[in-house]
Amino acid sequence: MKSIRERLLRTFLAGAILVIALFVVTSYFIESLPFRLLISGIVVFALAIWGAFVTASVVSERLQRQHRELVHQALHDALTDLPNRHLLYDRIDQALHTAIREGEQLALFIMDLDRFKEVNDTLGHHVGDQLLREVSRRVVTVLGEENTVARLGGDEFAVLIPNASTQYAIEIAQQIMEDLERQIFIEGVPLEAKPSIGIALFPRHGEDTETLLQRADVAMYEAKRNKLGFCVYEESTNPHSMRRLQLISELRTAIREDQLLLHYQPKVDIRSGKTVGAEALVRWSHPTLGMLGPEEFIELAEQSGLVNLLTDWVLTEAVYQCKKWQQAGIDISIAVNLSPHNLHEPHFIDKVRKLLAIAEIDASQMELELTESAMMTDMNHAMTVFNELASMGFRLAIDDFGTGMSSLSYLKRLPVDTLKIDKSFVTDMAEDENNAVIVRSIIDLAHNIGRQVVAEGVQDRDVLELLDELGCDLAQGYFLSRPRNANDLVEWLHDSAHGVKSMREKLKVMPGAAALDR
Ligand code: C2E
Ligand code: MG
Ligand code: MG
Repeated sequence: MKSIRERLLRTFLAGAILVIALFVVTSYFIESLPFRLLISGIVVFALAIWGAFVTASVVSERLQRQHRELVHQALHDALTDLPNRHLLYDRIDQALHTAIREGEQLALFIMDLDRFKEVNDTLGHHVGDQLLREVSRRVVTVLGEENTVARLGGDEFAVLIPNASTQYAIEIAQQIMEDLERQIFIEGVPLEAKPSIGIALFPRHGEDTETLLQRADVAMYEAKRNKLGFCVYEESTNPHSMRRLQLISELRTAIREDQLLLHYQPKVDIRSGKTVGAEALVRWSHPTLGMLGPEEFIELAEQSGLVNLLTDWVLTEAVYQCKKWQQAGIDISIAVNLSPHNLHEPHFIDKVRKLLAIAEIDASQMELELTESAMMTDMNHAMTVFNELASMGFRLAIDDFGTGMSSLSYLKRLPVDTLKIDKSFVTDMAEDENNAVIVRSIIDLAHNIGRQVVAEGVQDRDVLELLDELGCDLAQGYFLSRPRNANDLVEWLHDSAHGVKSMREKLKVMPGAAALDR
């Protein structure tokens, strides 16, 4: 607006100078003063009209441009200039109308980058921003003009493909993955942008914008969880499906009314054959659905904010069980699985400290496990909480090790005592050479940095013997014992080789040791 005022001032000054000049010049050939005044007045009037017209057109053009810019800003993402959520909703609405009218199918993707947070945390937000710009450029190149690529926020994008067959949608998803998997160099650093893409199709998976977006989101999480790259929505994976909704609504009562129970799976020292600890694994004795395993409800507890309550229950139960066993002369530690959400609970440490004090149990009798992938999602925070837990005397373990891609530098700094090798490497290591190599490497790595190793998922004697040869410290698995309730575990400890005698001796005389434990 300032320049318009300047322009008006300049026009006024120019007009004034012109009038004075006209007045002076006309004095040479027009003698009558009123006539000279009249001519100058007409010129001034004409100039004023012309000035007003020019100014009005400049102002109107500028307002139109500003309006266009405001509309663009309101509908586009500032970083990538892609359509934002508002524009996406609008385009989906339009595409749905066309699809209904023409009887066509429509595909909607939700795409999220794996481990983008790590790029931001380790290389800084300016690198993260450049990565997002390059990702959006590549996706737009794959999609072309007629489709919409939108940024929903953070590292989350959406893609709308009108008139798409399922096969075509899958091909596009594969093409996006291929294009993004080509290395991206930012400030000389080679980066990877691995996407997880969830696909929902109209009308098969939903008939309105909200449903389609929610379903694409569910499919995206499924793709991420199972490292699939992309995934087409399926009803059975929807956290909002009837069974899941039912379980979420009942879980709080189940925790309060003690419908949960713990089973304990022994951890056996491979050298001595003695049981040195047991892992507490939660189950839900559901009044109508029967016994439910943790795979059915831990994630629901995490999604619905109930996991802190659940961990409180599990920890309390495990601590008191440990105390009972200590009093009965059964000297084994108990391991409890933590959820990453617990580490973000504001008073988690205080609560645990209080629990130990009330139960009069030493923290060294307890072990806490956190999966490697959970640890990796927020390594710095996990490190802080783990340092506090370690200083209280807890033994700490990284669970499902080998699946979460932790970096060696972090591993050395983490105050953990134990790495638990994921069962996917252990169970078939006697037949699968690659897995045997991985297990051997993890054992060597753990020992080199002074950590103990537990092999999970030991299901037969061959694997146990191989682990013994490789120098693995502890074994856990169905071959030794399935998880069992507290009373059964005590009986098993009395009867089994692992409670009293060397396991090696027992193995020599018992061809079917596994049968004993099932
Ligand atoms: P995890 O902590 O890795 O526990 C080991 C799982 O492997 C248990 O499954 C156990 O029953 C199973 N397993 C043990 N030996 C073998 C074997 O030889 N072969 C095979 N195929 N499986 C074996 P479960 O009890 O179903 O627990 C699954 C997961 O649920 C646990 O994996 C843990 O991540 C989670 N979980 C269990 N209890 C809790 C809990 O109280 N809190 C939290 N946050 N998570 C829990
Ligand atoms: Mg565990
Ligand atoms: Mg595990």
